[in-house]
Amino acid sequence: MLGFQLTPAQLEIQKNAREFALKEILPVAWHYDAVDDTPLPVLRKAWEAGIMNTDIPAAYGGKGFGLLENVLITEELAAACPGLATSIFDSSLGMEPLRLSANDDLKQKYFPQIVKEFKLFCFATSEPTLGSDVAGIRCRAERDGDDYILNGTKYWVTNGGLADFMSIFATADPEKKHEGICGFVVERGWEGVTIGRRIPKLGQRGSNTVGVRFKNVRVPKENVLAPPGEGFVLAMKTFARTRPAIGAFAVGAARSAMEFAIDYAKRRKAFGAPLASFQAIQHKIADMLQRVETSRLLVWKAAWEADQGMDPTIAASIAKLYATEAALEVANEALQVFAGYGYTKMFPVEKLLRDTRLFRIYEGTSEIQRLIIAGFALGGFQPVMPPLEELPVHLERDVVNGQAAAAAWRCRICGHVHYGEAPPEECPYCFFPQSAFKKV
Ligand SMILES: Cc1cc2nc3c(=O)[nH]c(=O)nc-3n(C[C@H](O)[C@H](O)[C@H](O)COP(=O)(O)OP(=O)(O)OC[C@H]3O[C@@H](n4cnc5c(N)ncnc54)[C@H](O)[C@@H]3O)c2cc1C
Repeated sequence: MLGFQLTPAQLEIQKNAREFALKEILPVAWHYDAVDDTPLPVLRKAWEAGIMNTDIPAAYGGKGFGLLENVLITEELAAACPGLATSIFDSSLGMEPLRLSANDDLKQKYFPQIVKEFKLFCFATSEPTLGSDVAGIRCRAERDGDDYILNGTKYWVTNGGLADFMSIFATADPEKKHEGICGFVVERGWEGVTIGRRIPKLGQRGSNTVGVRFKNVRVPKENVLAPPGEGFVLAMKTFARTRPAIGAFAVGAARSAMEFAIDYAKRRKAFGAPLASFQAIQHKIADMLQRVETSRLLVWKAAWEADQGMDPTIAASIAKLYATEAALEVANEALQVFAGYGYTKMFPVEKLLRDTRLFRIYEGTSEIQRLIIAGFALGGFQPVMPPLEELPVHLERDVVNGQAAAAAWRCRICGHVHYGEAPPEECPYCFFPQSAFKKV
């Protein structure tokens, strides 16, 4: 059965997240954007309010929420500030490889701790010289007895400057590409871990983004998330579960941009009438709502697939791609409704436009999502229609001459169907020889 009605428990989760977003995030969002800083007290409040780390399994003391509950929360947080939402959600991204890993001892080591104490967990595949090409990771993990020694640099690490724990992907052998990738939980306090300066950004300035260097960092055996050969798949499975949340960020940010545009269009007058009375503005608003609604449907579907135990990879890529591109268009058009004022820092849409721009980049760019979706469409996708060469034809009668037909032959080049005992010597349309015909 298909239904879009949220359960009372889900509605409560959504309500709590919305209240938190309006009370704790919205009032400070522009300040932290202006000063380019991440408010740790707000992150702590999110943890205290129980809207952070909600996917830690119940077996380890966590809430054990499904992805659908998580996208309900992330939409609300991002509606108030995409940057702070990114920072709050980042621990779920950081912990997802651990949640997915088979290392139960490691889960016992970290999950209960994170439930009890305010600790942040970040995630890093990206490096200064690569982001999309995860198989090209250069950060080295060399075996030393049972331990591994890490050497290299991770870049663009969200919350890297604040997190206590990190899911780090490295390679045992760069020549082996995918087969060399491995993953570890690394603690910030370990010897040899250096945090770089905060990277200045266009938007989402409330989220912390840094480089992290590892110099002869010893990782004990028990902190292996994935041995060499298993890390790449673990990283991809992580993205399949976290991309719906990026889509949800986009829904939340687009929803707010749309709401601000509607409000402004009703108040502002031009040529003696409210902007909202002009059809050009109405069409923009209609497109905004259409994009917000369709994005949310895709996000919910991807989350639902994951919660059903299905592989959500393709649905997650479609949701992330569609919702993030739609959000950018919505924010851009919202700014157009505000026109001059939209371009100022006195109104909220310029920040939303800057913040929204990042969605198309992190957790796999739009181009990478298209690669994944195209790979499926051209590979595993199961068509309903028969192959073109086997399209059935009605045999009883030659539709051109009205004669009863013995057989039908389709030219595989131009598609012409010839009726008769045998194919013609050449195709009367494209002049290819008889060998181009196939019996259908
Ligand atoms: C603010 C911010 C926060 C981030 N947080 C994190 C984080 O917490 N952890 C983490 O690991 N990473 C993080 N990232 C990194 C992010 O995931 C990467 O920036 C992203 O994956 C793209 O990688 P890149 O920037 O190296 O671009 P590149 O991979 O160099 O790509 C450059 C351009 O080429 C295109 N391209 C590349 N390969 C192909 C191809 N095969 N076909 C078609 N087009 C292609 C890309 O789509 C892009 O347009 C963050 C980035 C930012 C900006």
